[in-house]
Amino acid sequence: MKIMPNRMDRGFQRYQQEFEAKAIEVLRSGWYILGKEVERFEKEFANYTGGRYCVGLASGLDALWLAFRILGIGEGDEVLVQGNTYIASVMGITINHAVPVFVEPDSYYNIDVTKLEEKITPRTKAILVVHLYGQAANMKEIIRIAKKHHLKIVEDCAQSHGACFDGKMTGTFGDVGCFSFYPSKNLGGFGDGGAVVVKEEALAQMFRIYRNYGSEKRYYNKVVGANSRLDEIQAGLLRVRLSHLDELNQERCRLCEKYLKELKNPVIQLPKRQKNSTHVWHQFVIRTSNRKEFIRYLQEKEIGTIIHYPIPPHLSEAYSYLEIDRSQLPITEQYAEEVLSIPLYNGMIEEEQNYVIDTINQFKPVG
Ligand SMILES: *Cc1c(COP(=O)(O)O)cnc(C)c1O
Repeated sequence: MKIMPNRMDRGFQRYQQEFEAKAIEVLRSGWYILGKEVERFEKEFANYTGGRYCVGLASGLDALWLAFRILGIGEGDEVLVQGNTYIASVMGITINHAVPVFVEPDSYYNIDVTKLEEKITPRTKAILVVHLYGQAANMKEIIRIAKKHHLKIVEDCAQSHGACFDGKMTGTFGDVGCFSFYPSKNLGGFGDGGAVVVKEEALAQMFRIYRNYGSEKRYYNKVVGANSRLDEIQAGLLRVRLSHLDELNQERCRLCEKYLKELKNPVIQLPKRQKNSTHVWHQFVIRTSNRKEFIRYLQEKEIGTIIHYPIPPHLSEAYSYLEIDRSQLPITEQYAEEVLSIPLYNGMIEEEQNYVIDTINQFKPVG
């Protein structure tokens, strides 16, 4: 049986008629940029998260870099971020010429709150919290530290649509909650898309200005902005998907409960759940020190896997200029060498999952 690490066709097929009807409706409307679909999506997504305002944007990366730009974080300012994140989190910081200061992750793969304070300097301006793989970070402690040191909080919720800490949804704790709607995300569109969730109208308005070439009124440009609008057709399709997000997340949770219960192999470390946090399982990430051999074994059995992420940002070529050397972040680097995401997607059938589980349980490393 051939199992892909992820597949988006199943999630589409389940609601195919709704998606197609919406696409045709938008196509026939004759209005494609910043119209009623975007407005409605923004209201619905703000409601869903429990945030006050949502502003649709063109991508998750845009949400991140615009957040730092609008919060006034730039040249020479330092932003704390976990070492084991997707590189877009870091680019959101460095596009503004601010400096990422990497903090080691905890055993839940989120920022280790016990190691935050030692990294704070007079130049520290913000904490970028990434709710990695779909599990909410320990926001109580992060907020306490941010308050104490007068730091802004930006949340990278690209993997955590619907995940909560203490019953409150990720994206509504900090100054700005940044979301991506890239197709593979829990709330994925059919192309690129993103959004921010904020508490204040004035801040929301800044994002509306920045996303549209810095103009509030057409052809009157206040700031050097961006072209970062969420398309009407994406917004319409995201509204359909949002109306099913809870059931899609519940399905992922059911699949992962089964993985947690039935995966039993002493060389495989399963993900751990944090008290007070919910997990929407963007990825099911296991760890093994025999990763190379394990991947090869699974490939032979036609089971695909993905590494999230093989090269931590500080070791990527793009960030060689930061001159952060190997071994400065040993836990981050160990995770990069050991993590592996096993197949997980909406519409995964029992037969497929049982095959994955049996195959993994039978793995015995030789090397
Ligand atoms: C996907 C992702 C992003 C970037 O989102 P795009 O929409 O692809 O720009 C940022 N941060 C994390 C953690 C992500 O997973």
